[in-house]
Amino acid sequence: MEDLIELTKKFCSAAIEPHVMEWEERKWFPNSVFDKLSKAGFLGLIIPEKYGGLGLEKEQVLRWLETFGEIPCMGFTVGVAMSSIVCAKAIMEHGTDEQRALYLPKIASGEIICAYAFTEPQSGTDLRAIRTSGQKTDNGFILNGQKTFITNGARANLILVFGKCEGTYNIFLTKGDTVFVESKLDKLGWHSSDTCILTFRDTPAELLGQNLGQGLQYVQESLSFERLVLSAIGIGLTRRALKDLQPFASTRIIKGRPLSSYPLFKKFINKAVSQLSLFSYFLQQAASKDNFEFSTVLKSYVSDKLCEIADQVLQFYGGYGYTKDYLIERIDRDLRLLPIGGGAREALYESVFRRLKKRISENRPKHDDQF
Ligand SMILES: Cc1cc2nc3c(=O)[nH]c(=O)nc-3n(C[C@H](O)[C@H](O)[C@H](O)COP(=O)(O)OP(=O)(O)OC[C@H]3O[C@@H](n4cnc5c(N)ncnc54)[C@H](O)[C@@H]3O)c2cc1C
Repeated sequence: MEDLIELTKKFCSAAIEPHVMEWEERKWFPNSVFDKLSKAGFLGLIIPEKYGGLGLEKEQVLRWLETFGEIPCMGFTVGVAMSSIVCAKAIMEHGTDEQRALYLPKIASGEIICAYAFTEPQSGTDLRAIRTSGQKTDNGFILNGQKTFITNGARANLILVFGKCEGTYNIFLTKGDTVFVESKLDKLGWHSSDTCILTFRDTPAELLGQNLGQGLQYVQESLSFERLVLSAIGIGLTRRALKDLQPFASTRIIKGRPLSSYPLFKKFINKAVSQLSLFSYFLQQAASKDNFEFSTVLKSYVSDKLCEIADQVLQFYGGYGYTKDYLIERIDRDLRLLPIGGGAREALYESVFRRLKKRISENRPKHDDQF
């Protein structure tokens, strides 16, 4: 694992970082980068060896993401993780043998780029309110409806779509070139990521897995994992912000002494570094326990704390932090999505509260060991 982390650091600083600024300005990172990532072995981390991947455990993948997440460009890091980790895992765990054999090797090789579409204009955190529907046909299904905020929406050639069919919730697989890309959204951060509105009009699709009616469980499992993925990338990015602050603070002289010598500054750094280590530890725990509530609360809590840390880092840069001369300006904007993406903080806390209340009222044992 340590070798993989070292390799990743070298790869990111040589092959990715020099291009990030341009990608952010162009609001797009090229698809060819998937090819480079695949050659380095980074697209098959979670994919079993028999499908061309490395078959790492979730905990190892999250550790890797913390390193990969240090690239100061969440639009890029999340775009890659969405395809090769979150979508790959869903296909790996819920696809048929044929779907696994068909798609997983191509995700690992970068030939297939995936998107996961669950959000709709009228249905964000409230997944049950979706309207996109699938209808059975002689050859499979057709989809009608609209999704919004879809990461990789314009570049994906395979899209996992959360939709209803015959009164049940399902995940469908559809080809990117059969979907209408209505528009790319202009955003506060994640500029290099194509976040799109997608429309389905009699779009041909296949069911993920064999049986109708499994979609709500599948999407909840994916979201639960996506929350850990986002948190890991966020931890990496915040760690990067702290690392970059050190040289600035040592050379920024305020009232005759470096900013880094001020007790308030030292206290902040010590606390922030400890917090990040703790969050990292909790992520590992959450991954090993596979507990929906744990992942959900953790993502909500960690997101807020990472935003607080990044905001204070920006503050230490003074006016310079408000300019594009320092990465913290982008890091701060990019991190701001964390309390929203993968489910809004308030809704997630409420949903966990409801689940726990129900469990208690049913007088079930609390399973303290799970937390
Ligand atoms: C850059 C970006 C990338 C994204 N990528 C994807 C993707 O790849 N695939 C995908 O499907 N989606 C994606 N999303 C969508 C994202 O997951 C949703 O924005 C998120 O789930 C929140 O949904 P919403 O925006 O509809 O907000 P809503 O659910 O409508 O919530 C709006 C606000 O209302 C408040 N609120 C909601 N519920 C409650 C409650 N119970 N109690 C109190 N207050 C509440 C919260 O403050 C919340 O922020 C992305 C979004 C962005 C911005």
